[in-house]
Amino acid sequence: MEFSSRARQRHARLAGDRREQYPHSLQFYLEPPTESISLVEFESFAIDRLRLLKVIENLGVSYVRSSDAYKVKLETELRKLKFPYRALAEDDYEARRKDHISHFILRLAYCQSEDLRRWFLQQEMDLFRYRFSQLTESLMQKFLEHVNLSFEALTARSLPSIQSDERLQPLLNHLSHSYVGPDYSVQKNTGKISLDQIDALSVKSFPLCMRQLHRALRDSHHLRHGGRMQYGLFLKGIGLTLEQALEFWKKEFIRGKVDADKFDKGYAYSIRHNYGQEGKRTDYTPYSCMKIIMSNPPSQGDYHGCPFRHSDPELLKQKLQSYKIPPSGIAQVLELVKGMHYQLACQKYFELTHDVDDIGFSLNHPNQYFTESQKLLSGGREPKKEFNNSGNFQQKNNSQESINSSSTPTSSNAKDDTELEGLEAYFTED
Ligand code: SF4
Repeated sequence: MEFSSRARQRHARLAGDRREQYPHSLQFYLEPPTESISLVEFESFAIDRLRLLKVIENLGVSYVRSSDAYKVKLETELRKLKFPYRALAEDDYEARRKDHISHFILRLAYCQSEDLRRWFLQQEMDLFRYRFSQLTESLMQKFLEHVNLSFEALTARSLPSIQSDERLQPLLNHLSHSYVGPDYSVQKNTGKISLDQIDALSVKSFPLCMRQLHRALRDSHHLRHGGRMQYGLFLKGIGLTLEQALEFWKKEFIRGKVDADKFDKGYAYSIRHNYGQEGKRTDYTPYSCMKIIMSNPPSQGDYHGCPFRHSDPELLKQKLQSYKIPPSGIAQVLELVKGMHYQLACQKYFELTHDVDDIGFSLNHPNQYFTESQKLLSGGREPKKEFNNSGNFQQKNNSQESINSSSTPTSSNAKDDTELEGLEAYFTED
C-alpha cells in the first residue's frame, strides 16, 4: 500500500491535532478518550496502569511521599512502564496518550464499588500529587490555567452502556479483581508435597487466609463451598495432585458428619471439577488476593475471604496475638488494615513471621506468599535480618499452635523440619 502525499498530509494534520490534546505531561483527565483502540492495547494499557498504582500503594506506606527515595522509585517505575515521567519532557506523546487512556480504563474498572473507588482514587491522588510537585512554578501556573476545575459526577453512570458491551464488561470486571503476576494454574510443583507436610506448612508458609481455612478444616472437619474452593485451589497451586486432594478432603470430612459414601457422591465431584476432570473441564486457577478481597465476602459460618479485609479488627488482633506477633507488629498491621491496605498488611505479617525487615516483593497472590516463604526458609533468598539463635519466630508459633490445637497431630519442630526437607530445596527453583 502506498500513501499519497495528500494522505500523508492528512495523517500529519491528525497527528498534530492529537498532540494538541496533550499540551502538558500532567493531565486532569477531564475528557474521556474518543479514539478507537484494539482490545490488546486496551488490556495492556490497563495492566500497566494497575502495576503502576500497586507500586504507588506500596511506596506510599514504605516511604515518606516527599522523600527523595520515594521520588526516585516512582520515576523509575514510570519510566519502566512508559508513562510520562518527567514534567519537562517534550516529546512524549505516546506516553501521554497511554496515561490518558489507561486512566479512563481503570476508572471504568474501579468505579464499580465503594471499596474499589476509594483504592483507585487514593493511588491516583498520590500519582497526581507527585507529578504536580515535579512541575516548575511556571508549568504549574500553565497547567492550572489550562484545566477547568469544574467536573462532572461519577463514571459509574456510564456503566449501563458499558455493561451491554459484551467485549468490555468481562475485561473490566476481570481488571478490578485482577492481579499482575504469575499464573498459578501452571502446576510445576505437582506431586512435590506429601499430605503429612500440610500441618507444618500451614504454620510456616501459608498466608493468614489459608492458615485460617486449614485450622477451621482441622477443627470442624468441614468447610463450606467458598472455603473449599479458595483452599482447594490454593492446595492445588502448591502442588497437591488430584489423588492427594481427594484423599486429603475425604480423610478430614469423614472425621465429621459426612460418611465416605456421601463424600464420594457429593464432594468428590467438585474436587475433580477444580482439577478440570468434570463439567467444562476447565483447569481452575487458584484465587488471587484481589479476587479473594473483592468478591464473595464470607458470611456467618464461613472461613474463606481475606482476614485482613473481612475479619473484625478486634478478632484479627486476637488472632495475631495468639500467633505471638509482637504488639508493635500488630499495631502496624492494624494501621494498614485501617487504611484499607490489606495486601500490605499481609506483607507486614509475612515480615513479622519470617523475621525479615523487608519482604522484597509485592504480594498479589496467596500462592506467591507460599512460594516466597519456602524460598526464604530454605535459604533461596537472603533474609535481611539474622534469625535469632533461640529458633526463629515461626518455630515458636508452631509450638503454640500445636498446644492450642485439639485435632492437629502435635508435631515437634524437629519433625516439621524433617518433613519439609527436600520440599524447601525444591522451592528455591524459579
Ligand atoms: Fe490471603 Fe492475599 Fe489476604 Fe494475604 S492479602 S491473607 S494472601 S488474600
